[in-house]
Amino acid sequence: MKTTLHTDITIRDICNGFVYNELEGKGLFGLSGHLVIQPEYQRNYIYATENREAGVIDSIIKGYPLGLIYFNKVSDDMFEVLDGQQRITSIGRFITNKFAIKDENGMEQYFDGLNPHIQEKILNTTLLIYECTGTETEIKEWFKTINIAGIPLNEQELLNAIYSGPFVTMAKAEFSNSQNTNIQKWSAYISGTANRQDYLKTALEWVSNGDVSRYMSAHRQDTNINELKNHFNSVIDWVSAVFPMVEKEMRGLEWGRLYNEYHNQAYNPSQVAEKVKALYGDPYVKNRRGVFEYILGNCVDTKLLEIRVFDEATKQAQYAIQTANAEREHISNCPLCAIGHDANKEKIWKISEMDADHVTAWSNGGATDIKNCQMLCKTHNRAKGNK
Ligand SMILES: [Zn+2]
Repeated sequence: MKTTLHTDITIRDICNGFVYNELEGKGLFGLSGHLVIQPEYQRNYIYATENREAGVIDSIIKGYPLGLIYFNKVSDDMFEVLDGQQRITSIGRFITNKFAIKDENGMEQYFDGLNPHIQEKILNTTLLIYECTGTETEIKEWFKTINIAGIPLNEQELLNAIYSGPFVTMAKAEFSNSQNTNIQKWSAYISGTANRQDYLKTALEWVSNGDVSRYMSAHRQDTNINELKNHFNSVIDWVSAVFPMVEKEMRGLEWGRLYNEYHNQAYNPSQVAEKVKALYGDPYVKNRRGVFEYILGNCVDTKLLEIRVFDEATKQAQYAIQTANAEREHISNCPLCAIGHDANKEKIWKISEMDADHVTAWSNGGATDIKNCQMLCKTHNRAKGNK
């Protein structure tokens, strides 16, 4: 990536032709029309309070540094602000009398009301601007390296920047808009927030089977988001049909993958609801987040539920009973070795060589207490566990 440092561009230059969109709260253009201040991929203007905006102006008047600003050179005479859009928007808004600052007497002053001296000082202030030219990959790498003042861009925001275009614009309008009335429903299944792109990220992961970059690259110039939207809605509709209840552990599960694996199977939602209820009430189930996939897979893979294991005291007590008995009878203390025909028939294993096993499996109603505990050598325990 090529970078050029400019130290001679003034606030006057930058704010020449500054356009602010009140409705969207966006600074749009500057530098006599050669600068796109808020490219479509950038976050919404999030300088929350006027205090921060006033702080920028105050710094300029006092001659404090404003930090580096980065432009991306997109063509011979066009630039986009990569980093610094909030600062530039604040400056532009002040110069165009959109907000006031307090002067040394505590009086509110708009730009037009300032002493001409101070006006000139502001307009003649130069900014430190890095102009960057590079490939998408380079710019992505670079984006990751700089620590953007305030909140750094997350992975999806970076991808939105790299693959900016009509597709991203439309996808954001659907999935990154916190005013979308569907958000409430989606939030039962997806964690995160719309404005940090978590819904968009999820929708893209689902439709692309996890290959978000490639999908965004392939669809960059698309003028519709039908596939993205349809797939997303199919997943959401499927989850909410199969699981009529909403549990907080459902948030953020891999619904896209589960949809791919199970959406062709039929489920009875009221029976499903009963099962969820029963498993939620089962004290041996440690992982409630595994309940949903367990049910979708017809209640076979108990590993998903992380059934409570025997504690050390129970294991030691059971080991002592089995070992005493084995020594008396001259058989192995692993009951499965004892009935075998090989060299381990009479072997006394150390406790560290054994694992605890449910005699009656949890799925058949077996409890996790000493009456249902047996110690097996590791080999036998593993063999049993795989059945
Ligand atoms: Zn054994």
